[in-house]
Amino acid sequence: SHVADLIAAGEVVERPASVVKELVENAIDAQAHAITVEIQNGGMSLIRVTDDGCGIAPGEVETAFLRHATSKIRSEYDLEAIGTLGFRGEALAAIASVARVELLTRRLEDTLGTSLTLEGGVVTGKEEAGCPAGTTLLVRDLFYNTPARLKFMKKDAAEGAACLAAVQRQALAHPEVSFKFLKDGKQELLTPGDSQLRSALYAVLGRDMALGFTKVEGSGEGMTVSGFTSLPACCRGTRGYQFFFVNGRYIKSKTMTAAVEQAYANQRMVGKFPGCVLHLTTKLNAVDVNVHPTKQEVKFGAERQVFSAVYYAVLAALGADQS
Ligand code: ADP
Ligand code: MG
Repeated sequence: SHVADLIAAGEVVERPASVVKELVENAIDAQAHAITVEIQNGGMSLIRVTDDGCGIAPGEVETAFLRHATSKIRSEYDLEAIGTLGFRGEALAAIASVARVELLTRRLEDTLGTSLTLEGGVVTGKEEAGCPAGTTLLVRDLFYNTPARLKFMKKDAAEGAACLAAVQRQALAHPEVSFKFLKDGKQELLTPGDSQLRSALYAVLGRDMALGFTKVEGSGEGMTVSGFTSLPACCRGTRGYQFFFVNGRYIKSKTMTAAVEQAYANQRMVGKFPGCVLHLTTKLNAVDVNVHPTKQEVKFGAERQVFSAVYYAVLAALGADQS
């Protein structure tokens, strides 16, 4: 029902950055190599995400906007061991119910693509369309029909910054994908998509900051930890440069934060925090990702093992650097 859609929408779509996150995740799930995100007015008037992924079949475009329509969960087992990013089939339905949406999509094997337009979740047009292979999702006038939600939006600059942060996280999660981010026509991020985390790190943090990072590689407790962590001399007065990923998914974890900071405990760190980009790889079912759709704080089945894997990997990286 319409009411159910609006309630679901509020859970998934809190602000423009949540739209960006969901659309980019869909593009990644579609095996895109290049993803472009454009926003205008902090994403409030326009968000456009273009990918060169698998596209959607002409007969499936409406289905993609139905609640709980997902092509990604095939069994109960899949629900427990979620490998793809999208996991509830709610994002497109939720976004479409609170905005004006245009989908343009073509599969490589089709000669013609499809364009579908929706307003407030209602389909207003469907046509065959000539377009490049891949998918473009255009989201205009976010929350135009939910004034209560509109009131909670911050200034465009803050919403735009949150959109950029969402793209940066995905860029660090997926160095194999080239990300481009444009804000009001100005390019603010371009990653090469050369599969090197180091290149993505340079693009996201800038050369000066990236040079202060050293490589982390470790394994133990049935998991691997890899990435980069800042040299003690290059730590900053904020935790804003800490990025954690589990099995390719950006997460927040008090355990991983504590493990990293503990590894710096014998450094002089008054008022300073390490930066890091750490990827933890573990058996899928060791992590509970099926938490609230927008909350990124995860629970591990094995907090202590995660702590020590991260702690020792970072400690080794700092030690190796000093020798
Ligand atoms: P979920 O990602 O959880 O499956 P969504 O509502 O985000 O749910 O998307 C619904 C469906 O639409 C997806 O399962 C997928 O089949 C299709 N889809 C969405 N975005 C894309 C895209 N960029 N490329 C190809 N297919 C897409
Ligand atoms: Mg999705």
